[in-house]
Amino acid sequence: MKHEYEGVVTELEDHACPHCNKPLEPWVGPPGSGWNVILVCNNNECPHYKGSDKDIINKRDDSNLGCRYAENPENGYKPFNLLAVCR
Ligand SMILES: [Zn+2]
Repeated sequence: MKHEYEGVVTELEDHACPHCNKPLEPWVGPPGSGWNVILVCNNNECPHYKGSDKDIINKRDDSNLGCRYAENPENGYKPFNLLAVCR
């Protein structure tokens, strides 16, 4: 897929989430994160995401944090957990 953000076109491989098989979507990391464009599973039904709230140490019950499956194209599409607020 091609992703364009502020005039910068990034060529990304099409990847699917290994946990739910949904296509990963491009997402631009927040300023200061050190990320450029990363690929994220945005599926709220993803088993990785749904099960992740138990894995966060010292998580407050009302914090609604979860980990989305993500890959960093700049790091050879290495998978990592993207800490995200559940909506
Ligand atoms: Zn997924």
